Amino acid sequence: MGDSSPQTADQLHRRGLMFILSSPSGAGKTTLSRMLLAKDAEIKLSVSATTRPPRPGEVDGVHYHFVSHERFQQMIDEDDFYEWAEVFGHRYGTPKGIIRAALKQGQDFLFDIDWQGTQQLYQKDQQDVVRVFILPPSIEELHRRLKGRATDSAEVIAARMERARAEISHWDGYDYVIINDDIDVCFDKVRAILEAERMKRARQTGLIPFVRGLMV
Ligand code: 5GP
Repeated sequence: MGDSSPQTADQLHRRGLMFILSSPSGAGKTTLSRMLLAKDAEIKLSVSATTRPPRPGEVDGVHYHFVSHERFQQMIDEDDFYEWAEVFGHRYGTPKGIIRAALKQGQDFLFDIDWQGTQQLYQKDQQDVVRVFILPPSIEELHRRLKGRATDSAEVIAARMERARAEISHWDGYDYVIINDDIDVCFDKVRAILEAERMKRARQTGLIPFVRGLMV
């Protein structure tokens, strides 16, 4: 497209997407999520509500909306969640009203959720969801990475390893699967997927008037 064009492809209106990154704990999705949020101004994190107490350094409204069990139940009763699930005895859910409105405006959302949440989101909104699964290069490497987290006890690590195997068994419910051998290479792949998905014809709602303009 030349400089004289009144609109560039980047300025065309498009519908936002829900970009899901899932993996077993320790496979790198948190690092990848942080990298994506730092490098890509068009995507923002969907902040979940949880009944889990905050860990040191976690900020209410930034990492999670930390709510009481009663408040969470009230949100379920009021159908205020896109999806919710119980993980390690705590409840986690995605508040839905804000997201739907923002998607229409072209806002992309990043979801750092497990396979259960992914399934529920996909069932409710197939056209907007892009599902990416991150695998560790080996189970030994995953164990090594989980042991490296100073905050977790032996029981927590063992529980996470068990859960990792269960999580991995759902790899085939995703559109894309990346093996995270090298975090930078993996990140480039994640960005390539996001860029390609943004260009899907159905998401580019501004294309019809644009193409009409090309044909006069
Ligand atoms: P953590 O307590 O370590 O922050 O998260 C525990 C697990 O809950 C992670 O696997 C995370 O992906 C999942 N999780 C966080 N928020 C949500 C959510 O809104 N929905 C679902 N289904 N899972 C979530």
